[in-house]
Amino acid sequence: VSVGVDIGGTKCLGVRLDGQGRVVAERRVATPSTTDGLVEVVAGLATELGAGGRLGVGVPGLISRDGVMRGAPNLLSGEGEVGVRSLLEARLGGTSVVVDNDATCAVWGEHRLGAARGADDVVLVTLGTGIGGGFVTGGRLVRGARGFAGEVGNMVVDPDGSLCTCGARGCWEAHASGLALGALARELAGDAAQVRGEHLVAACREGDEPSLAVLATFASWLAIGIANLVEILDPEVVIVGGGLSSAADVLFRPVEAALAGLGALARHPGLRLVPAQLGYRAGAVGAALLGSPRAT
Ligand SMILES: [Zn+2]
Repeated sequence: VSVGVDIGGTKCLGVRLDGQGRVVAERRVATPSTTDGLVEVVAGLATELGAGGRLGVGVPGLISRDGVMRGAPNLLSGEGEVGVRSLLEARLGGTSVVVDNDATCAVWGEHRLGAARGADDVVLVTLGTGIGGGFVTGGRLVRGARGFAGEVGNMVVDPDGSLCTCGARGCWEAHASGLALGALARELAGDAAQVRGEHLVAACREGDEPSLAVLATFASWLAIGIANLVEILDPEVVIVGGGLSSAADVLFRPVEAALAGLGALARHPGLRLVPAQLGYRAGAVGAALLGSPRAT
């Protein structure tokens, strides 16, 4: 049995896995906006799900190897460094806590129990408001010297490109995230404020030509970042997770066409592009596995 909690921008999801890695219980709670509130919510989920001596936690931000959150733009705005691991261990007394980036947790979950089972070289890209990334190479999780590996949304794909929320220009997530797709959809609809990426995706499913053309542009930006990661890491599988993975039915074909155009498919025969299989639970499941390394 292992328990993991995925802290999201709006909700915290806790899951309990049995010895075979099946989700046997899950709970969801709104994410509080203060550190104290967050510690209470995560500790509450851990207790309710019966974490016992071990807990894994995924966080949407930079987590250093000592379990300190160094930055999470969509979480606890205004607060600086937060010692997530030490705060939780103090609060839970006797529980050893592992804290990692949410996309890092998600790629581990998909590698062990999801779309990349049996593959030792895996790239996971989460397309949400921004873009997150996680890598498994040679069967091992890539964390980096500080724990900050996989911040793929910050890769610059066009130095003269769109202004990013981080203040730089041309970051991958300024061109290929859910936020970027929403902006393209509004541009197409003549700036109607209520138009979102989902509307564009729905129009694509109905075969609307202008929408398909915009999606192809978006897909080409997405493919640039994926191709760069493929050239560096030579994975067997590229997993697309996050909210936009639900658009795989209309999004993957133009992305694959763009990847082929860049030569990435010819250089990496058999490369598979697949949607995340564990869905919204990937981060929590991966956190549970990381928190309890001997389970499954
Ligand atoms: Zn940026």
